[in-house]
Amino acid sequence: MRPSERATTELPIAEYPTTEYSASQQPQVIVVGCGFGGLATLKELRDRFRVLVLDKNGYTTFQPLLYQVATAGLAPSDVACSARAVAGKCGARFRHGELTGINAAGRTVSLADGSQIGYDYLILATGATAAYYGVAGAAAHARSLYTRRDAITLRDELLGRLDGLAAVSQAGRAGRAGRAGRLVITIVGGNATGVELAGSLAELRNSALRTAYPEIDPTQVEVRLVEQLPELLAPFGPALRRYAAAELAERGADVRLGTAIKEVKSEAILLASGETLHSDLTVWAAGVQAPPAAGAWGLEQGEAGRIVVESDLRVRGQDRIFAVGDIAAGAEHPLPQLAQPALQMGRHAARQTRRLADGEPTVPFSYRDKGIMATIGRGSAVVQLARGQRLRGTIAWLAWLGLHLVTLLGNRNRISALINLSWRYLAWNHGGGLVVGDDQADHADAGPHAGGADAAQEAARRYLTGPGNGAGVL
Ligand SMILES: Cc1cc2nc3c(=O)[nH]c(=O)nc-3n(C[C@H](O)[C@H](O)[C@H](O)COP(=O)(O)OP(=O)(O)OC[C@H]3O[C@@H](n4cnc5c(N)ncnc54)[C@H](O)[C@@H]3O)c2cc1C
Repeated sequence: MRPSERATTELPIAEYPTTEYSASQQPQVIVVGCGFGGLATLKELRDRFRVLVLDKNGYTTFQPLLYQVATAGLAPSDVACSARAVAGKCGARFRHGELTGINAAGRTVSLADGSQIGYDYLILATGATAAYYGVAGAAAHARSLYTRRDAITLRDELLGRLDGLAAVSQAGRAGRAGRAGRLVITIVGGNATGVELAGSLAELRNSALRTAYPEIDPTQVEVRLVEQLPELLAPFGPALRRYAAAELAERGADVRLGTAIKEVKSEAILLASGETLHSDLTVWAAGVQAPPAAGAWGLEQGEAGRIVVESDLRVRGQDRIFAVGDIAAGAEHPLPQLAQPALQMGRHAARQTRRLADGEPTVPFSYRDKGIMATIGRGSAVVQLARGQRLRGTIAWLAWLGLHLVTLLGNRNRISALINLSWRYLAWNHGGGLVVGDDQADHADAGPHAGGADAAQEAARRYLTGPGNGAGVL
């Protein structure tokens, strides 16, 4: 019997279908988080362990295309896949539940529903969430874009506000309202997510609005991107950064570089310079940190709350717990919080788990940089490969499109995403075709920013009853 297996027999696997596992002598690995990092572990763990995947959602999300959902180009189901099905394909079990605590000495994890599950090895891959860097009002008034729910909420608020603006414009044309109204959208953060979102919104305004919302003059919708550094896309080379800024400007986005934000208010942003800018909808895309809940796990945390890992990706001070992906950071050279590091770390952690179970020493992780890419809009993207090659324009955009479709999980998602993206890029300016929003009832759990029909009515009410307007009659 190998050392780790001996330990398992000393530890009852608490409160989880032990009967299903008791016949097996294989050690149990719990993988927490069914994103890029967690899923990458599964093939490596297969056949050697009993693997249980835990996630607080019943699905896995392809975050790189969330901005397409938020801008009504893709359906939420295009970027999500059943976690149960994906885990099952790799011979793992899935448990829907939220990790709330870790008892490293007793080798159990606690879930929000009060249950406890024993493990022999634990791999944490719980991802990141928005970092607001202490900017007043940002958490309360800005929307974030890290989850599928965030994307749906943002899309529905956007469409709701466009509906409101359309109603105002219609009423204005009929002579019943005193002003045309406008919609100002501010995106905070000029890295890939901010650039992609700004480009996508500008494109929606320029191409889809005329047919989807004929009542609105596109000049009534303003897309603003605010970045505190002097350039966009900091990890890219200077020529690509300049290209991205020029492409956004060409699409009519108002790009404000070297502009720090001091406070976010419900309908405004206050700049460090003291200037206040009106903003109906502010989206925070300025950085990430570990989810605050990670603070309760009793593990060492470093910058932005990321869990500190040793060179083999084991959590510092722990011999059976690994952390991978956005949540993890080596003490010296933290990797960027991107899909490739998460995938490679996940595979490595799983291989080290095998080594430990086989009584072998672990080996250090080394990251193989494959490059980075970001898209601005149709026919426009930037690609920077690790060996130094740089691409931009249509060829880069086709590379971006191909890679995202290939890496999207599930054939059905690939096909539906291909159809929806083709529709978006080829047909939007002919017949609209925005992916529609949901009813308010679908947002019962969406928190304070829930949008949809509610936002439309509220926006219309505010415009129509605001100063200089009519009596709120639509
Ligand atoms: C809008 C957006 C666009 C992006 N675009 C790109 C891009 O173009 N290219 C790129 O390389 N990277 C991109 N990224 C980054 C990339 O998506 C992440 O680096 C990657 O998803 C990290 O993988 P992960 O496994 O660490 O976490 P995730 O993929 O975030 O997975 C974490 C999982 O853990 C689950 N979870 C969290 N907390 C708990 C808990 N307490 N209990 C149980 N389950 C929990 C979550 O539900 C989730 O399923 C983007 C990210 C965002 C948000």
